[in-house]
Amino acid sequence: MDTACGSDPPQSKKVCVIGAGMAGLAAARELRREGHDVTVLEQSGDVGGQWLYDPRTDAADPLGVAAPVKVHSSMYASLRLISPRQSTGFTDFPFCPKSGRDDRRFPGHREVDLYLKDFCDAFGLMDAVRLNTRVLRAAMTPARRWAVRSVDLGVGECDGADEKKLDAYVDEVFDAVVVATGHYSQPRLPSIKGIETWRGRQMHSHSYRVPEPFRGEVVVVVGCGESGKDIAMEIRGVAKEVYLVAGSMEAVTPGLSKVLAKHSANLHLRLEVERLCEDGRVAFKDGGGSSSSVAADTVIYCTGYSYSFPFLETGGAVTVDDNRVGPLFEHVFPPSLAPSLSFVGVPRKIFAPRFFEIQARWVAQVLSGRRALPAEEEMRRSVEEFYRARDAAGVPRKYTHEIGRREPTYMDDFGEKYCDFPRVEGWRHELLGSFVRGMMENLETFRDDYQDSDSIHRAMQEWHLSCVQSSPPSCCSYAESQAAVPAQLVSVNQHND
Ligand SMILES: Cc1cc2nc3c(=O)[nH]c(=O)nc-3n(C[C@H](O)[C@H](O)[C@H](O)COP(=O)(O)OP(=O)(O)OC[C@H]3O[C@@H](n4cnc5c(N)ncnc54)[C@H](O)[C@@H]3O)c2cc1C
Repeated sequence: MDTACGSDPPQSKKVCVIGAGMAGLAAARELRREGHDVTVLEQSGDVGGQWLYDPRTDAADPLGVAAPVKVHSSMYASLRLISPRQSTGFTDFPFCPKSGRDDRRFPGHREVDLYLKDFCDAFGLMDAVRLNTRVLRAAMTPARRWAVRSVDLGVGECDGADEKKLDAYVDEVFDAVVVATGHYSQPRLPSIKGIETWRGRQMHSHSYRVPEPFRGEVVVVVGCGESGKDIAMEIRGVAKEVYLVAGSMEAVTPGLSKVLAKHSANLHLRLEVERLCEDGRVAFKDGGGSSSSVAADTVIYCTGYSYSFPFLETGGAVTVDDNRVGPLFEHVFPPSLAPSLSFVGVPRKIFAPRFFEIQARWVAQVLSGRRALPAEEEMRRSVEEFYRARDAAGVPRKYTHEIGRREPTYMDDFGEKYCDFPRVEGWRHELLGSFVRGMMENLETFRDDYQDSDSIHRAMQEWHLSCVQSSPPSCCSYAESQAAVPAQLVSVNQHND
């Protein structure tokens, strides 16, 4: 389907982007390139979103039961990028090592945050960003514009809809709203018998920062995703015992098996928590009908996050049901409110921020009138077909927005179809493939193994070339943007490679 429109001049819209993380910044840049008047409202004191590490936690509510949580970032102090920096940068602003900074191939969270700040500086985005500004409400007006109410947290900390602080509210009207508020903050908890009354300490990984508080404890880590494995391996260094609950044997990769064998003295695998007992024990189902239990001090739930948009009033047009945000045409536009409401950053397991750029460019071009969306009914049908296909494939609803392995070509097809975005270069896939294999085999050391590995040398060369040449694709706004990359940044990139 060719969605490009005729030759009418692009229209400039007044657009509010909510959130200044990777997705919001990608959106701000693409919207500006397309000639829109952009305001980014960001509740934190700086840009970066999740990557803006916050040593504070939701200590008063460590399970995050009272939504929304007060602390946005869920990153822990030791967190390093899970994918190599070479596959993580914006298309035309590679995430290059810089001297005097964390130049590792898998840098820590601080370096990613600095990179996002560099990106803001390079493209002059900060003048569009209003920091310390939390959006409390976004609702469509009868004229199909968007009324946005925000509060300046610098004026008075506002807890939800605290009516006493009304004088700090700002009400504005925009032609369109782009929601880019992320989805790694609001804890998602499993349903386990006894969770409400268990007398030990319980928390979600959202509130985990450092291992020290668990020194000498018996800790149960529930969930075997990246955070669960990272946290279990880290806590093991100080705790008396750690029990990692995998959910299924499929999660036990050769890499994890090696870690379990190496640290068998105090790191143990369990399959499932059966219940939390009144006497403080945690009972496990161990498979094959057998069970065991342990007297634990702490349970940490590394069980993922829920999509949550507490500020958004759509009268039911957009709902979140078991982590399905919908209906969203191509995970971006709710058919009945499109194009003035859109979401950037909803998909999971994608190349970020690259895919955010693609989504954002599409939104920008649709808003300017350069691209047309299908009719509302057609968009609805497409979403329903997508749901049916996922259901037929047995994909649980909570994975609706997980792209990755399920639809490996989705990102490329999307970019090509909707905004002439170049396909991901083969070397990026190769690079990712090699490190994923490394992670499967050597969980504890894969990042350092790949720091000096010859096996990705060729990919590195390709990356270097792409930094230097950054061959412009056919999309004209992209070509224009090449001129916007300051020459000194390109030379710094060359110098440091
Ligand atoms: C522990 C952990 C490890 C991760 N590791 C990786 C990794 O290795 N590689 C990777 O690619 N990704 C990783 N991620 C995912 C990471 O979240 C994404 O890379 C990226 O940060 C998502 O960007 P975003 O802009 O969509 O959301 P966020 O980064 O969450 O940004 C959203 C922004 O919206 C703001 N906001 C929210 N609500 C409001 C409001 N009401 N008003 C105003 N502002 C608001 C927030 O303050 C925030 O700044 C990890 C996430 C976590 C939690």
